[in-house]
Formats: sequence, structure tokens, C-alpha cells
Amino acid sequence: MQENFSGVGVAPGRVLGPVRQMPKPVQEPHANVNIPTDVTVESQAARVKDAAKAVQAELRSRAATAAREGKEVLEATALMAADPMLIKSAVKLLSPEAPGGARTAERAVWEAAATVAETLKGLGGYMAERVADVLDVRARIVAELRGLPAPGIPSSEGPFILAAEDLAPADTATLDPAKVIALITSGGGPQSHTAILARALGLPAVVAAPGVDDIADGTEVYVDGAAGTITTEPSEELRVAAKAWATQASTLAAFTGDNALADGYRVPLLANVGTGTDAVKAADAGAEGVGLLRTEFCFLDRDTEPTVEEQIAAYGAVFAAFPNKKVVVRTLDAGADKPLPFLTNADEPNPALGVRGYRTDLTSPGVLERQLHAIAAAEAEHEAEVWVMAPMISTAAEASRFAALCAEAGLKTPGVMVEVPSAALTAAAVLSEVSFASLGTNDLTQYAMAADRQLGPLATLNDPWQPAVLHLVKLTADGAATAAAATATAKPVGVCGEAAADPALAAVLIGLGVTTLSMSPRALSAVAAVLKTVTLARAQQLAALALAAPSAATSRSIVREHLPVLDDLGL
Ligand code: PEP
Ligand code: MG
Repeated sequence: MQENFSGVGVAPGRVLGPVRQMPKPVQEPHANVNIPTDVTVESQAARVKDAAKAVQAELRSRAATAAREGKEVLEATALMAADPMLIKSAVKLLSPEAPGGARTAERAVWEAAATVAETLKGLGGYMAERVADVLDVRARIVAELRGLPAPGIPSSEGPFILAAEDLAPADTATLDPAKVIALITSGGGPQSHTAILARALGLPAVVAAPGVDDIADGTEVYVDGAAGTITTEPSEELRVAAKAWATQASTLAAFTGDNALADGYRVPLLANVGTGTDAVKAADAGAEGVGLLRTEFCFLDRDTEPTVEEQIAAYGAVFAAFPNKKVVVRTLDAGADKPLPFLTNADEPNPALGVRGYRTDLTSPGVLERQLHAIAAAEAEHEAEVWVMAPMISTAAEASRFAALCAEAGLKTPGVMVEVPSAALTAAAVLSEVSFASLGTNDLTQYAMAADRQLGPLATLNDPWQPAVLHLVKLTADGAATAAAATATAKPVGVCGEAAADPALAAVLIGLGVTTLSMSPRALSAVAAVLKTVTLARAQQLAALALAAPSAATSRSIVREHLPVLDDLGL
């Protein structure tokens, strides 16, 4: 019987394919389990060794076919699976003579890996960075001992649609876009990592679709990433739609830079990147610069603060891809959905409202100054036009202090992200202190609507089409205009949240007074194709319609009705 699931469409595209489920996380094995008397230490030791070997073989065979970045991760993890220190300490814990008595094979592996992880952490530096590999290997060996599928992205011979509860940033490294053709999740919201990842990879995706994590492996489904629907036993009509999309997707003209509206009004389209590799891809995709360098993405797997030299190299790799072009560097935005162990406290009761972004300077003084010096040193080695902005700025006083720190480091163009409603409401004062602002609509939406961006059930609230969010965008642009008039200096306002990647919303944002848009490079051609059909006056009319709408859904549908090009292009 045909089944329909619906959620929030976060990246367009219509595809057909078999579902593969992301295995659920491995649970900690119980301690103090009675071990039957007929189970020998030798037989348990053999099970542990065999499981470790099987895990190593599986990781090696995946490394052999993985793309370059994923390959390195998989090879490092495969080495760890056969680590004699890990196996030896696990085997010791199987013996009745072990302190606390004999453990089950699963428990012994769990505890031994915890000890190895602690030791590595204590050693710091490169060794501390291997902690995540040990914990990954531990989960894999325990899953193997239990006869369960290995955690992480499933491997498959052919292309498939990945179903999961939600994806974590760490899943990115092993997701092969040649195999995974769409993402569907029961959790997550439009601004969750799954959504950001899907847009970065250009994969159709639907999030917050309850029930999709229970679809049986191998079931053929049709996914519509614009409508937010998933259908089993697809009809002939849906099969035709998927075929038509495949043809259309390859005909959307490539973006070649110099983006402009129908009347010639220039709206530079920039890229959101995390690393030098991303930056090279963004430059190849025609991006006119970088509107958001998420510096924390260079260091997500770090337990310790990266050295200034490491930072210079990481930022320099991005600057090198954009000579004489603008690169907006965001200082570390650790916390909430992007924890960095060396900056954030994992025990905060309410991390989204906690010490995150610019606020980590309160608890870890020095890190921000060292980062600003590293950015300035990298700038000196390259031709890029470097702008720097702080995330999570809430007051004009914070903006002023950040500008002073930038000046001390020799950075000429300081700015702020507007993602806390207080900054939007006081934009004229905030922008008087700095040179520019960039609207982080992902966080601005979560804070305006008081809806955690990672929670599936709140996805409808967490929608940048919410008229309340659009009003905050307008307040920011208006405040910037006031500050520009008062200081006789231009105060440009860009958008670097995911809203900029939605071609219809992009037109609205320009109409609200935003001057640049920054997005995942995959979105550039679709956004450019739609913007070139509207004049500035038309964009302003669309913005007025969107602001006056009674709900996010109405706002979206009214604007879409006025942009027939979206249907023509299948967007
Ligand atoms: C945002 O909040 O919109 C943003 C661009 O930053 P991030 O998604 O990294 O929090
Ligand atoms: Mg943000």
C-alpha cells in the first residue's frame, strides 16, 4: 500500500531510489552482568579479536573506494580498530582477576576504549585529536559483537536515499554524494546540519518528516525536496517527475559571477565555506567572494585550541582561492549545535542561550585575540580583501569592543553578525560601531521564534519566511541606512543564513534592503536564475507582500505565485 510522509522540504529536487537507514547510535553495554559459567575467557577474547578484525577489514574496504577526505578519516579509524593497546586492555578486563571482576566482551571493549581515550586526551595535541576515532571504533566493535549494523553512513553498492533521525557534522566526512542521492530525516529543522549539508552537496532533502526513520531498508521511495514529501510505491506520474527533474537539473545554466537583477542592479552572490577545499570549489562555482567563512569548521574535531600557525594556514588556504575578492571571516562560533571542547561547556543547561559565539570571550579570554592576529597574519600573505565579523553580537557595546580588538590586530573592516533579535532591534546603534553586518537568518529565526533550530517538531516555527523574521531583516537594513547617514559611510548588510539560498526568499531579502547574499555554492545558479528575472522595484513589492502576510506559509506561497520562473525551472 502506498504510504505518504510529509516534512519540511529544505533542498529542492525530485528523485527516486531505495532507502537505506542510518543505524541508531550504539548504547553503552551494562556493567555488572552475570557471565554464565560455561563462557570461557579465551572464547570471549577470541570474540573481541575477531570483531576488531572484522571492523578493520570493513573500514579498509570502504577506505579503498572513498573520496579523498573520507578516505583519510576511514584509514585512520581502521588503524585504530587494530590498536594492540586497546585489544590488550579489553582482554585483561575479561578475566575474573580484573579489578571489579570479569566483564562481558562488549563491556570490556567499552571500558578499555574509554581508558585509551582518556590517555590520549591527557597527551594533548595530535594524540588528543584521535579520541573521536577511538570512540568511533568502540561503537563499531560493540555493534559487531552484538550482530548489529555498524554505526555511521551505511555502505552500499548502488545509489540510495539516506534516512536518519538527524545527521551530525561528523557524518559529513563519510557521506559520498555519488552514492547518497537524497536525505530524509524524522528530526532536524530547516536550519539543522542535515539541511546545511544537503544544500552544500546539492542533495534534495526533507527534514522533520515523522516516520521516515522506520521505512524498511530497500523500500523504493520518491522524494520531493521542494514540496517536503516522501512517497512509497511511487506512481507512474511520480516516476516521470523524477526523470524530468534529472534532465532539468543538468540544464540550469552554470553561474558565472557578476550577478545582477533584471534592471542591472548588482547583487553580489558569495559563498559560505568552512575550509580551503570548500573555497576552491566555491571559486570554481563562480562565487564572487566568500560571505561566510565558518572558522569553527576548520577545527570541529579539535580538543585543544589550534596554534596561531595552524590558523594562519587554514585561513590562508581560503584567501588563496579568492585573490582581490572579498572574504568575510567569522570568528569562532562555538557552542549549541557546534560544540568545540576547548571553548564550550558541555554541561550548560541551555546551550543555545549560553556562552556561545562571541560570548566565549567571557570564559576563555585570549582565544579571540589570537584568532584575530592569525587572520591578520594570513591576510598579509594573500591578496584577498579580508572582512571580519563576530557571531552572536547582542549589543552595541559588544560591537564596539569587537571593532577595537580588530583595530588592535590591524584588521580594517570589522563587522557583526545579526542573529540575535536585540541586534536587529538596535541595528542603527550596532552599525555605528562597525563597518558592516551580515544577517545569520538561521539563528535569527530560532531566537525570534524561540524555537530550537535542531528540533523537528518546531520546524514550522523555525522558518525564515516567518513575517516576524522578515520584519527583523527590514529593521536591520533600515537601522544600517540610519547609521550610514549619521556617519556618512556605507554600512552594507548581507545575508549569510540559509534563507539566502532559497531563490524566492532571496528576491524578498533584496527587496527588504539587503545588498549581498551568501550561500552554499550549489545554490548560486538557481538564485542567480531567479534574481535576473526581477527588478529592484519588483523585489521591493514582493518584500511588502511577504511582510504583510499573516503566516510563513502564506508569505511563501504569495511570493512564489508572483515568480512563475520558479515553476519553469522546477525550483
Ligand atoms: C546563521 O545563524 O544564520 C549562520 C549563518 O550561522 P550558523 O548557521 O553557522 O550558526
Ligand atoms: Mg549562526
